[in-house]
Amino acid sequence: MAEILVIGAGMVGVSTALALQERGHAVTLADRRAPGQETSHGNAGVIQAEAAEPYPMPRAPLDLLRHALGQRNDVTWSLSGIASMAPALWRYWRASAPDRHARVGAVYARLTSRATDDHAPLIAASGSENLVARQGIALVFRNAAKFDQECRNAAHLAGAYGVRSRVYSGSEWRREEPALQSDPAGAIHFPDSWSVSDPGALTLAYAALFEQRGGRIVIADAETLKRTASGWSIEGPEGVISGAAAVLCLGPWTGVALRRFGLRIPMVLKRGYHAHYDAPLTFRRPFLDTDNGVVLASMRAGLRMTTGAALVPPDTPANPAQLARGERGVSDLVTLGPRITGSEWFGTRPCLPGMLPMVGAVPGQSGLWVNFGHGHQGFTLGPTTAALLAEAMDGAGDALHAALAPAAQV
Ligand SMILES: Cc1cc2nc3c(=O)[nH]c(=O)nc-3n(C[C@H](O)[C@H](O)[C@H](O)COP(=O)(O)OP(=O)(O)OC[C@H]3O[C@@H](n4cnc5c(N)ncnc54)[C@H](O)[C@@H]3O)c2cc1C
Repeated sequence: MAEILVIGAGMVGVSTALALQERGHAVTLADRRAPGQETSHGNAGVIQAEAAEPYPMPRAPLDLLRHALGQRNDVTWSLSGIASMAPALWRYWRASAPDRHARVGAVYARLTSRATDDHAPLIAASGSENLVARQGIALVFRNAAKFDQECRNAAHLAGAYGVRSRVYSGSEWRREEPALQSDPAGAIHFPDSWSVSDPGALTLAYAALFEQRGGRIVIADAETLKRTASGWSIEGPEGVISGAAAVLCLGPWTGVALRRFGLRIPMVLKRGYHAHYDAPLTFRRPFLDTDNGVVLASMRAGLRMTTGAALVPPDTPANPAQLARGERGVSDLVTLGPRITGSEWFGTRPCLPGMLPMVGAVPGQSGLWVNFGHGHQGFTLGPTTAALLAEAMDGAGDALHAALAPAAQV
């Protein structure tokens, strides 16, 4: 048993603290704010069993042209964003080549296929059943050609990874989701994904479980992390806290934090926005409006619309144009109702160019570990990569641990 510092209390850090605690370690979880207030609060709340393959960068010339011309709402960009992330985007482009993406998918699917099983005991032990629906997620289409293309992809996911799905005509889907106000061209339903009506509350409930089981949560900034004679220390209002090992789980902030320890990890920071609407009707499960690049999910605080990715530098002021365009675009299918004042939020998906999370020991820094870079699926994968990291810290190492290790990815 060792005293371990876990730094960063989003879904990934809280899950990591729980996994290490379960293996008998004494764990202190540190964050500069309360748990679950950042990306793990603002996401679409889907535990995505269907996400067997991570999102590649579009490579088809027509797709790229449409993005370049600003015709698509799922990805927007600024010149300064592209310039600031150029090395990461170049690596992302290369990793998105079909043969390399297929190899990444083979690893990724091993993670997402167990994600609901890894969340299940935490949901039960933290008394969070009331936050979770097991109704799947849907892709909704207006455009018949795109629908056909995604039906082929769903068949590929079923064949390659066993991801279950069912294809619906527009009228059939409207019977499934009576809150829609017109028939789409069609829908694909992935029944094995789960959704959470308040993602921040689930993260907080897991953090409370960690405390109930004897864990300690403190306020401290990762910038105070230092090597000591016996391991690592961090400092906050409660003083200096020491551990034999430290794990950085800082989501989109991890790349910057690692620079102090000599590791330069280029990240693709995909900003996303959300807002809540006082909608008159609720949906049974979240769905992606594929034409407008927004996910709609009925949540405790209202109907949450989350946007796709904006490639902008991290300090760029909020520009919720994707939300406004989403509002206009969905209006033929959905009565959103008024936007709830003050509900606007933005955060950043912590994406790595190789599309796999980085889970393992930091090369050349004895006792320093990382668990970050979960991109579009960190809420899904928190408990899964937490279990893998805890195994690795206790000395386990199979092919999956090796594929996710920083040494394999830098
Ligand atoms: C719009 C949008 C929709 C999404 N939808 C989904 C979805 O449906 N399903 C899904 O699986 N994923 C989704 N994601 C992705 C998911 O939200 C992220 O991958 C996940 O939340 C990352 O978790 P994390 O714990 O790594 O990071 P975070 O939740 O951001 O946690 C990082 C923590 O580090 C702390 N921190 C930062 N810097 C410091 C410092 N210097 N010192 C101390 N603490 C620090 C922060 O305060 C924070 O608590 C979505 C993301 C976005 C933006």
